[in-house]
Amino acid sequence: MIMNWQNKIAEQVSSIPRSGIREFFDLVTGRTDIISLGVGEPDFVTPWNIREAAIYSLEKGHTSYTSNYGLESLRRSIVKYVDGFFHVNYDPLREVLVTVGVSEAIDLALRAILNPGDEVLYHEPCYVSYAPSVNMAYGVATAVPTSKRDLFALNPELLEASITPRTKVLMLNFPTNPTGAVAPVETLQEIARICIRHDLIVLTDEIYSELRYDGKPHVSIASLPGMKERTLLLHGFSKAFAMTGFRLGYACGPEPLISAMMKIHQYSMLCAPITSQEAAIEALENGTSAMLKMRESYRQRRDYLVKRLNEIGMDCHLPGGAFYVFPDISRFGLTSKEFATRLLMEKQVAAVPGTAFGASGEGFLRCCYATAFDQIKEACNRMEHFVETLS
Ligand code: PLP
Repeated sequence: MIMNWQNKIAEQVSSIPRSGIREFFDLVTGRTDIISLGVGEPDFVTPWNIREAAIYSLEKGHTSYTSNYGLESLRRSIVKYVDGFFHVNYDPLREVLVTVGVSEAIDLALRAILNPGDEVLYHEPCYVSYAPSVNMAYGVATAVPTSKRDLFALNPELLEASITPRTKVLMLNFPTNPTGAVAPVETLQEIARICIRHDLIVLTDEIYSELRYDGKPHVSIASLPGMKERTLLLHGFSKAFAMTGFRLGYACGPEPLISAMMKIHQYSMLCAPITSQEAAIEALENGTSAMLKMRESYRQRRDYLVKRLNEIGMDCHLPGGAFYVFPDISRFGLTSKEFATRLLMEKQVAAVPGTAFGASGEGFLRCCYATAFDQIKEACNRMEHFVETLS
């Protein structure tokens, strides 16, 4: 008998929408005439000293599993780095879990915390995986919209008004994918007070924290008074160290939550790949100067792109971090999806419609500037011609 797969896949999974980014990029697959400002991935190859550490690791024959928590030497490097950068001190043996990217850490944390029907608040527009990850963990995902007026930082009053008796978790992501928003410290302090008042757990995805361009130090909500005990700090190597393919991240937080995540991780992933873990030690110990060079290059591209977009009439605020700009295209009378589709079809420039990141992204476009300078220039020229056809 031929298997009938209808109704065989779990409802929880069948109901997950396809990623708005993937859906859009299926249109681009196989085409070489397209300039992509689409994919949120560094255009740099991983710095050589980090690749070399991976090669040495293999050369030495390190091809085994590691501790489920991750190599102790890596956890010690993580704790040192996190203390220096985020100013929060963790116990490497009980409060750190090395994961397969921040992606796995998000999934583990939500599955470890949520009972069916528990609510998770997150600021929107946001990274595409948050709501589906909450739903897959049987939680209810509730978006708190942010606006251009607030430079896409979370408005504390709106946040507090969205809290219900079932709200258990607040997810944060500053600097933000897709808006590049950086929350001012005063806003973070207000959010922290609200979380303490309502006894919320905070999952803070700070994967872009090194990529900040205003010269001010990054402040993690985990470092604010009373927050460490209720916050899970998520970080990884994909963005700042250009290590997406290494698939490595980590979670630092209260021991009961880390050990609950570990219970799932030990049976699902077992551990992150040892080669990546050994390369990551090199990134943390000796990767900063290469990272700063990449950051400076992103800053120059951001400045150029924002200037050009504003000249073209694609009204664009100067984002404080990450590697995305989020111009307002509402004045052209097209939806985000129409704008992005026509830009792709008529001028062969791929950018992501703001609605891929939630309904509050309507009227915006996400352009990633982790792309070669000459490509960004050419994309701007093409966008200029496209916009001329609209007016
Ligand atoms: N969090 C955010 C906000 C992201 O933008 C991304 C990737 O784009 C991830 C997490 C995924 O990170 P990783 O590669 O560490 O799984």
